[in-house]
Order: sequence, then structure tokens, then C-alpha cells
Amino acid sequence: MRVDILTLFPAVCAAYLNESILKRAQEFGALQVGLHNIRDYATDKHRVTDDMPFGGGGGMVLKPEPVFAAVESLRGATNAPVILLCPQGRQFTQAVAHQLAAQPHLLLLAGRYEGIDERVREHLVTDSISIGDYVLTGGELPALVLLDAVTRLLPGVLGAADAASNDSFGASGMLEYPHYTRPADFRGYTVPEVLLTGDHAAIERWRRAQSITRTFHWRPDLLHTATLSKADKDTLAAAAIAAAGNEA
Ligand code: SAM
Repeated sequence: MRVDILTLFPAVCAAYLNESILKRAQEFGALQVGLHNIRDYATDKHRVTDDMPFGGGGGMVLKPEPVFAAVESLRGATNAPVILLCPQGRQFTQAVAHQLAAQPHLLLLAGRYEGIDERVREHLVTDSISIGDYVLTGGELPALVLLDAVTRLLPGVLGAADAASNDSFGASGMLEYPHYTRPADFRGYTVPEVLLTGDHAAIERWRRAQSITRTFHWRPDLLHTATLSKADKDTLAAAAIAAAGNEA
């Protein structure tokens, strides 16, 4: 997959891309990232990329000319999606990450200031994505969030083919079970006994029950779409009874 990020601050992105899983994904060829400074596409003497908003008001607005020039030059004749990171866009979720991971090429456009001239959204951008209902200073972190979540889904990046499907919001649609590692006893805080038994079937049952119980407590909305077996429903009923008991 190729991803081109257009930003006024490429160095912000470079630091993150040069570590850990994203770095490895690039090294073994699953991911190719281009970082592009929008300023390089400004043609005036001072390479101006922003200007005051028509109609007045505070803040500056990213000008359309360098953004159009950058996207048109990078997209070439392809139909690669041009994604604007924007708090007003559709919500980024694991399902959206899966959709994007199927694309061979993405262009990610990171805004700054008050945002980008609206004609960019109207005539250039094909998708607007928000990473949550809050406003950040710029689109670099949102672009990296999106790219990180998508990269984990690319074949080979996490090692085991199904590694990402065990994660929260993965195949089960629920939160993942808790993890423990050595030591088994830390300051008297012990690891659940079942994890030390080597009984894989019992461990799987425990993990499934943990996943259901914590989803019930922390993200009950996810249970509306989860596929639950008879045993899962029994676990859920037990969690509901325990919760009611705690409230009483
Ligand atoms: N004035 C805009 C508004 O109220 O909708 C906010 C502009 S914000 C200060 C500057 C840039 O940060 C945006 O153009 C966008 O690229 C990025 N940004 C901020 N919050 C974001 C979010 N929650 N999701 C995606 N991008 C975001």
C-alpha cells in the first residue's frame, strides 16, 4: 500500500513513522509512505500557504492553490482516495480502517489553522474523516492515527495472519480479554489461576467470558451487533446479575 501525507509539518509525521511497527512495515515493503510539504507547492516568492478568511473573523485559512497542486501532482492519473482529516468528517472506526486497508493508494490531507479553504473539500477531496469529537491543532496526528490503524491490518505486518482479528473491535466486535505476563505474583497481585494451567480450552473459555463481561461493563453498545452463543449469553446474564447485585 502507498500512502502520501500532505502537511505543513512533515517532520511531525517522520518521527512516528521511523519507529516500531510502522518502520518495519515500510522496511519489508508492506507500506510505502511519502511525506510532502504543502509549502513546496506554493508558487509565489514567499511560498505563502495561508491567508485571512473572507468575511472576517480570527485565524488563518489554508489556501487552495498549493493544496490542489500537491494533490494533483501526487495522484497523477490514478483514482486514489483523497482523504481530508477533519473534525467534521465521518467517524474513524476499525470498520473504516478495514475499508481503507483494501486500497492500494491513499492521499491524506492534514489541515492547520482554522482549516482548509472549503473549495478543497468541494472539488478535490473524496472523503473527510474525523478521529473524534474534539479539535486538535492540526491533521498530522489524525493522519498518523489513521495510518497506524490501517497498517496493522496489512498482510504480514503483525506476524500471525489473524493477530488483528483478536484485538478489540476485531472479528468478535467486542473488547479484547485482559493480558498478563511474568511475574505470576507481583506485590501479592496474582495472575488468574486458569492462565497458569496450560489448559488451552479452559483459557479460551475464560478469555471469551472476560471479553463479554468487560464489553458489558465498558462498551455495552458493542453487544448489540456481536454474535453470541448460548454460553456467551449465559456469561452475559451472569455479568448482569452480578452488576445488579453490586448496585443493590
Ligand atoms: N475550525 C475547524 C473546525 O472547527 O471544524 C477546526 C480546525 S483544526 C484547529 C485544524 C486542522 O486540524 C483541521 O483542518 C484538521 O485537519 C485537523 N483536525 C483537528 N481535529 C481533528 C479531528 N478530531 N479529526 C481529524 N482532524 C482534525
